[in-house]
Order: sequence, then C-alpha cells, then structure tokens
Amino acid sequence: MIVISEQDARALVSVEDAIAVVENAFAAMARQQARNYPVVREVLGYRDAVFGVKTGCDTALPLLGLKAGGYWPGNLGAGLGNHQSSTLLFDPDTGRASALVSANYLTAVRTGAASAIATRYLARADSSVLGIIGAGVQSQYQLRATLAVRPIRSVHAWNPSADNLAALGRVVEQLGLAFTAESSCEAVAGKADVLITVTPSKQALVQASWVRPGTHINAMGADTRGKQELDPLLVAQAAVFVDEAAQALTIGECQHAFEAGLVTERSFRGSIGEVIAGLCQGRRSASEITLFDGTGVALQDLAVADLAVRMAARRQLGSVVAY
Ligand code: NAD
Repeated sequence: MIVISEQDARALVSVEDAIAVVENAFAAMARQQARNYPVVREVLGYRDAVFGVKTGCDTALPLLGLKAGGYWPGNLGAGLGNHQSSTLLFDPDTGRASALVSANYLTAVRTGAASAIATRYLARADSSVLGIIGAGVQSQYQLRATLAVRPIRSVHAWNPSADNLAALGRVVEQLGLAFTAESSCEAVAGKADVLITVTPSKQALVQASWVRPGTHINAMGADTRGKQELDPLLVAQAAVFVDEAAQALTIGECQHAFEAGLVTERSFRGSIGEVIAGLCQGRRSASEITLFDGTGVALQDLAVADLAVRMAARRQLGSVVAY
C-alpha cells in the first residue's frame, strides 16, 4: 500500500490536472459507468465534530474507494485545520486496500475543479468579472480554478469578517487582478459575470432580484442539510445543473427550493456530467442565468486521490508500506 502525506498531495496534484480528472469522473457518472453510494454524515456528539463517509466506484477506469472525515471546530486552537479527511483506495479487482491519501488539500482542489468545470461549460465565454461570496479556505481554490477556465480581470468579494476578505484580496492582487472588497452581497451579485458562493451560511445571502441576466452561479457552500446561500426563487428561476441530483435535493443548495415546492428533480436542466458528455445542452442564451449546485461527490475525491497515486509513482514520492 502507498501512503501519501498532506505535503506530498499538495506537490503532486495541480489545479489543471484536478480539473481534467474531475471532468472525466463527472462524464463517467453521466454515462452510468460510475456511481456514488449514499453519503453518511453524522454529528458525533464528541468535540462538536461532524463525521462523514463518501464512497463510490468508477467501473470504467476502474476506481474504488472512500473518503472519510469531517469538521472539528476546535482544531484551529490546536494548530490544525478544522476540516480533516483521508481517502482510502481499493484495488477494484481484489478489494485489497491500495492507497491511503491525505485529503485536506485534495478536497479543496477537487471542489475548485468542480466549480471551474461548471464555469467552463456554462458561463458566458466573455466572462471577466468574478464575484466571490465567502473568503475562507475554499475561496482561494475557487479563485485559482476559475482563472484556469475564464479570462477573469477583476474580482469583487464579500465576507462577514474583514480579515479573511483582506487575505483573499492579497491573493487576488498577487495574481495580478483588480480586487474590490464589497460591503454587501448585493454589490457582488450585481457586478459578477461568474458568481461563486462558498460560505457555511444557513440562510439566503443572494436575492433573485440582485443577479443580472447572463450570470453563471456556482453554489458551492451548501453541502449539508440546513446550509443555504441563495434565495429559493433564484434557484427556481435559473437553469439548474447539478453534480448529482439526489445530493442536490437533500444536502445541496436545491434542498430549500425543493422543500418549498419550487423545484423537483425534473426541473433540473441536467447534470454537469451530461453536459460534458454531450448528453445535455448547457447555456442556451447569453441572457440565461445558469446555476451549478456543487454538493461534492465521492467520485471527485477518488479521482484526485488516484491522480496523486499515479503522480507519486512517476515522481517517486509517498511511502510504500507492507499491508
Ligand atoms: P471556512 O470556515 O474556511 O470559511 C468560511 C468563510 O465564510 C469565512 O470567511 C467566514 O467568515 C464566512 N462565514 C462564516 N459564516 C458565514 C455566514 N453565516 N454567512 C456568510 N459568511 C459566513 O470554510 P471553507 O472551508 O471555505 O468552506 C466554505 C463552505 O464550503 C462550507 O460550508 C464547506 O462545508 C463548503 N464546502 C463545500 C464543498 C463542496 O464540494 N461543495 C467542499 C468543501 C467545502
């Protein structure tokens, strides 16, 4: 078995390579060659932690495994990130465990990749203004991944804490782009060609009337029951694309519009995998508002962990242990 540390995972998987393998995983899902199994996500009743397991199988590659981990709110005090997760890959031919891969960086980079893929297929080609609501850990990965797919020239962002917003601003400016720290979500939403929401909010931050025709939205923050970033009316009015319909309706942004009776699975235009695979049309006009509900699926995690393993073999990184 190979063990890949957090440090090695960072060195092995680039944003561009992550985008390529996640795109393949989404397409395999659409072609029914790959499947995510039901997600386990539980409050532990210990250390205020939330723990989950995401698992799936891609029969085309083939690739089998699981990512386990979650959120430990007290970790920052101990010098660790609050989000902790690890991926275990299995040999699909025998069921033997083949790799243990630290998945903190990989989770962030695969989430950025999903968002960038949606932007590549759904945003207007001339999109140059990026709006980001939320300036935490994920925001920088969202930013870098978006730059790989669209000619972004300026970034407008909002966050409740000024420190995080300023830190995001420094990264944007280091990348040579103009940055505006906005004082409201409305100001961000009203300027963005591509709007990314990536907060743990439990109430709508963006109202339907604030979003301009032609905007593409990646709703990335809602990955658990109860989380919400968008007005359900906005979800009902947009052309909605999902990573996986079952997750979108239960743990994604769409859960609220679904509970309010405003959308069902049949209202979705399709999955992003179907758009990639040519099974479903993406944006239909320059004025349409498109929305990607990115909930995060196991096959994204397995794809980037497998990439790390393949790159480690090439670059002789990682530790091989007898098992
Ligand atoms: P983080 O804790 O590093 O940052 C969150 C940011 O949001 C902070 O800057 C904070 O000031 C701000 N914030 C906190 N509460 C807020 C609220 N109620 N309204 C608006 N802003 C608020 O978190 P992160 O790692 O950047 O993750 C952001 C969200 O993305 C979380 O909900 C996380 O679970 C989710 N996430 C989704 C996926 C996916 O695949 N869809 C993957 C990873 C993380």
